[in-house]
Amino acid sequence: MARKFFVGGNWKCNGTTEEVKKIATALNEGKVPSQDVVEVVVSPPFVFLPLVKGLLRPDFHVAAQNCWVKKGGAYTGEVSAEMLVNLDIPWVIIGHSERRLILGESNEFVGDKVAYALSKGLKVIACVGETLEQRESGSTMDVVAAQTKAIAERITDWENVVVAYEPVWAIGTGKVATPAQAQEVHCELRNWIHANTTPEVAATTRIIYGGSVNGANCKELAAQPDVDGFLVGGASLKPEFIDIIKSAE
Ligand code: PGA
Repeated sequence: MARKFFVGGNWKCNGTTEEVKKIATALNEGKVPSQDVVEVVVSPPFVFLPLVKGLLRPDFHVAAQNCWVKKGGAYTGEVSAEMLVNLDIPWVIIGHSERRLILGESNEFVGDKVAYALSKGLKVIACVGETLEQRESGSTMDVVAAQTKAIAERITDWENVVVAYEPVWAIGTGKVATPAQAQEVHCELRNWIHANTTPEVAATTRIIYGGSVNGANCKELAAQPDVDGFLVGGASLKPEFIDIIKSAE
């Protein structure tokens, strides 16, 4: 069962109107494999979503970087899944480690968010990953399994879920996981999904890697059998994002 390669660009809390216009223009000019080969989704900050969506070529899609855990209402500062649907934003990133660690989002809260966003028709990039301390203490797979379990307990349909394995020690540090390290966790995570959901979900769900992916290291990572794409931070703001998309081939 073929899993279509997925490349996400997480712009995080970066950019001005002028800058995002420039990035969108550069993306529109990029020569990349067809939509049959790679799915490309970029995630600007909320305030730029409609602008970027309007500027981007039709084969590239947009994602929000977060959404509220339930129906909107008296939640000052939050953006609801309903609003994203209303604006025709197809994707949302949920459970990024920066939100888990800086804003204290728990596994359960992330699981609730994933379930709610899916129930409203959004597609979800669900992030998991261990800290350096957790890796060094040998608990990588326990951490990743617990994070995934909180999602698996709350959903049954995985069709609109992409799982992003992003080791925290690799995010924004320039210390990319080696292809073997990424493959090891992706394979174990797929085995976990196999054992805890269904064999079909395990075979079809894309598990993408994130953490210091760039134009130079993407090819070797992409060649790993259980690496189905990337979630790219820093390099998604640069021209090399096009090279990362090309690693789908
Ligand atoms: P990075 O970020 O590529 O800058 O390491 C990845 C991410 O946080 O999604």
